[in-house]
Amino acid sequence: MVSLSQVDTVTVLGAGSMGHGIAEVSAIAGYDVVLRDIEDEYVQNGYDQLEWSVKKLAEKGQLSDSPEEILARVETTTDLEAAVSGADIVIEAAPENLGLKRDIFSEVEAFASDETIIATNTSSLRVSDIAAEVALPRRCCGLHFFNPPVKMDLVEVVYGEKTTEDVAETAYEFAESLDKTPIYVQKDVPEFVVNNVLTPFMEEAGWMLDDGTATVESVDATMVYERGYPMGPCELNDFGGLDILAHTRDQWDRPIPESIRDRVEADKLGRKTGAGFYDYDDGPGVDYGPEDLAGVDSLRIEARMINAAAKLVGDGVATPEDIDIGMRLGGGLPEGTCRTADKIGLDAVLEKLESLYSETGADRYAPADYLVELVEDGNTGEAAGQGFYDYSGDGPYFYLDHEIDDRGVLSVTLDRQERLNAFNDDMFAEVERLMTTADVDDVRCVVFEGAGGKAFSSGADVTAFTTTDPISMMDIDQTMVAVAEFERPTIAKIDGYCFGAGLELSLACDFRVASDGSSFASPEIDLGLIPGGGGTQRLVRTVGEPLAKEMIFRGTHLSASEAETADLLNEAVPEDELDDTIESYVSDFVRGPPTALKVAKRIIDKGQDVDLESGLSLEKQGFSLLITTDDMVEGVTAFREDREPEFTGE
Ligand code: NAD
Repeated sequence: MVSLSQVDTVTVLGAGSMGHGIAEVSAIAGYDVVLRDIEDEYVQNGYDQLEWSVKKLAEKGQLSDSPEEILARVETTTDLEAAVSGADIVIEAAPENLGLKRDIFSEVEAFASDETIIATNTSSLRVSDIAAEVALPRRCCGLHFFNPPVKMDLVEVVYGEKTTEDVAETAYEFAESLDKTPIYVQKDVPEFVVNNVLTPFMEEAGWMLDDGTATVESVDATMVYERGYPMGPCELNDFGGLDILAHTRDQWDRPIPESIRDRVEADKLGRKTGAGFYDYDDGPGVDYGPEDLAGVDSLRIEARMINAAAKLVGDGVATPEDIDIGMRLGGGLPEGTCRTADKIGLDAVLEKLESLYSETGADRYAPADYLVELVEDGNTGEAAGQGFYDYSGDGPYFYLDHEIDDRGVLSVTLDRQERLNAFNDDMFAEVERLMTTADVDDVRCVVFEGAGGKAFSSGADVTAFTTTDPISMMDIDQTMVAVAEFERPTIAKIDGYCFGAGLELSLACDFRVASDGSSFASPEIDLGLIPGGGGTQRLVRTVGEPLAKEMIFRGTHLSASEAETADLLNEAVPEDELDDTIESYVSDFVRGPPTALKVAKRIIDKGQDVDLESGLSLEKQGFSLLITTDDMVEGVTAFREDREPEFTGE
């Protein structure tokens, strides 16, 4: 079967909402693309949308190739044989109909090479059912993109019953090559991972409306304002279409709450028909707020989501890590469901399910074996040191990628791309944990950056403000102090938005270098707040009072060149020079004398807070300490011998 290096041509069957988007991201990534539909008009329509979207992305400066180059890679046709005979990967994005998809797979097989991977973008059918009639089902898999493919980062890579490892791996690497984040769905379960966990969120709210324990407004307000979800379950149902939920439930013989069924029968399908749970045409639309909070049992909803996640893990469908990435990127949740479960406590979750199960006898509350096992083994979550995740030792990092290279450069990436790397509680805690537990002796310098190329960090996650314990939000400065006091040079490598807590993190670093498209702001005042991570103090010391007050009182944004002029930045450079510029700093620091750098950092930082005399005395102490070090002897000797010194920190 083809490996990724052999993939040149991608054929997309179906030029509708999903097909044209999948074709677009493939062409942007450099593949030759054939887009096929059954009528000229349909394929042209899909191409027109693709063209429009590529030009829009180019206008926003988000493409590295010109629109002409990208569009030249896309061919359209209605001829199936011409479309698939030269394809390395075929992705079917035709309407959600099992018979149709089965036929398409068989037709593709007749014309495509035996090496071609045949993938389906189905969202609710099983891959194995679609591939049931092909001769080589091992080359079939699911590549489930989310809508719209250009914006949504997640792709579920689904194993059919007969899919071989090499096929799934190539599909996974292909998704990565499109700059997407793939997760594996290792068994062919209906609804894959994200919809399996998200459906109970939308559906359980319906059961609560049925039994009168919540209203549309109170359940939505609870999940948003108390639990931090981006939309309430009724709002989300309206957004996606109540018919879609009902159809999928029917398809797999799962019961549907009356509150949903009745609306579907009355053609109140949500936004698309002008009314659903909320009235969009004749009423105010989505209409709830914190005043609607009324003691709704949010655990009932979350327990069902967690149970679905536990079933997926226990059945070997997905790992907790993949489920959580899926729920963040595909489900839009502020944190993964397994992580939420470990915070809540799995014993509380199990207890809730058991009591609902014994009250109602409904299968949907039957606890997953894996959940029962975890609780019986005492692995009840973070407080117990083990739940879905292992919290012992160094513990997991959910939002930081970090690695140290053989030169001692600790690279730290803030990775919460779906929220432009906005800080939540965990991310603050993880930066602090890393800075306080990293072995300074192994590190020569630290580089912080943001994942995804759009933001260093867009600040603290505002959606968490109403749900987070105010005490923990008051501890933000400890994170920044841990960075500021780290005993090695620290560099903020900024590419994109650097706002709020992101700006504060950069201010806690010793150096700030940014790409010329980056922007800077301290917008907390718009939320009725002030910076809480040392921003008022470090900003004024860096740019002076007039500009610090301008930024903090008025939320003024600075471009990279303005930030450079104001000495907020050491340098602003063109984006394609950012890596080399950072490297020039890093290479000085990895060669530099660690102890002298540490002492210089401490004296400069502490010296700013004391009068000149005390500062000079600090300097004197530092100097007399350094004069006794091996590094000093090495530095002087190397100077005499006209060679590069080799400092050891001794
Ligand atoms: P759509 O109706 O917008 O597009 C389907 C296209 O397929 C149409 O243009 C149709 O003419 C074409 N088509 C029909 N028969 C064909 C054939 N034999 N060969 C090639 N093309 C054919 O549908 P969509 O929303 O793009 O969904 C396509 C698939 O993607 C479905 O399986 C759906 O479940 C899945 N999906 C949809 C979404 C979504 O939000 N729309 C998200 C993820 C996955």
